Amino acid sequence: MKQQRGFKFALYPDARQRVLLEKTFGCTRFLYNKMLDDKIRHYEQTKENIILTPAYYKEAYPFLKEVDCMALVNAQRNLERAFRNFFRDRRYGFPRWKSKHKSRKSYTTNVIHHNIELKDGYLKLPKLKWVKIRQHRGIPEEYRLKSVTVSQCANGTYEASLLYEYEIEIQPKKVERMIGLDYAQGCLYIDSEGNSGDYPHYYRRLEHRLAKEQRRLTHMEKNSRNWIKQKQRIQVLYEKISHQRRDFLHKQSRQIANAWDAVAVEDLNMMEMSKSLHLGKNLMDNSYGMFRSFLAYKLEEQGKQLLRIDRYFASSRVCSRCGNVLEELPIEERIFHCSACGHVMDRDHNAAVNLCHEGRKILQSV
Ligand SMILES: [Zn+2]
Repeated sequence: MKQQRGFKFALYPDARQRVLLEKTFGCTRFLYNKMLDDKIRHYEQTKENIILTPAYYKEAYPFLKEVDCMALVNAQRNLERAFRNFFRDRRYGFPRWKSKHKSRKSYTTNVIHHNIELKDGYLKLPKLKWVKIRQHRGIPEEYRLKSVTVSQCANGTYEASLLYEYEIEIQPKKVERMIGLDYAQGCLYIDSEGNSGDYPHYYRRLEHRLAKEQRRLTHMEKNSRNWIKQKQRIQVLYEKISHQRRDFLHKQSRQIANAWDAVAVEDLNMMEMSKSLHLGKNLMDNSYGMFRSFLAYKLEEQGKQLLRIDRYFASSRVCSRCGNVLEELPIEERIFHCSACGHVMDRDHNAAVNLCHEGRKILQSV
């Protein structure tokens, strides 16, 4: 079975390479926006979608030829994907223009023959040649590199995400130990053993700081010097938080995947949920979605299972001791109190136990 895995390393381009990187970020953004313009115009005139390729634009704008051509191809693919998502599900929103200041500076390039190589602390990239890299972890020899995404963080540093593919033989693991996880607002989850997957303190502290800095921004005059500075500060903080969060989600999912043979979770639609809870599009939203996807592949590669329980299963209203179903349980009620057997339990803990039971049923039925 084919598996994919990404690795992120810090990049240290020299002066010439930095100029070229800046150019590549600029060209991919330019092409993306130009294509978006043309697609919109074409759609307004004909009501049809048009597929565009970089070749035409390279003739019209020769400076595009100076950068990695795969970066341009991927910009086009990203745009097509944004359109496909939009046509499939309007909640994705119409594809937006990339802004020079707001959008993340990044581009993706693909391995073709030996155009990209990782060797002795250097990463060879098309047009750039060998760029210094800090490779803090080894990559198994049988892994095959597929693509690289180079990006610049808000604080000016660079990083490369390397995507590898590899084959693994998976032996299904007999399920002996099983756990249920219930999504809980505020912490990541409550499990059926009663433990919570809470974020570490340092993470919480940063979160508070971010909120504070964001409040300060609202009192500043828009586009003033201080405002721009503050924006930058927030961006740096934001990236630091998202790195830490990722790291934490990896650790947490690894721990669970190693300790249990099967994990039952609710089959939540994260997008729907963030809408109904009015969470907005901030960075905390997709933590649980990310966590589940990490968990899914970490279980899978050990022959273990992530069981997604139908979201119409009323996990929070069922008594985990006697099976009695409460008529209703308002969201603000944090304690489950069974009207039939008198069982009292933390609401999320009770729901997690139910998910675990439901997961067992699914396993027994197959
Ligand atoms: Zn009961």
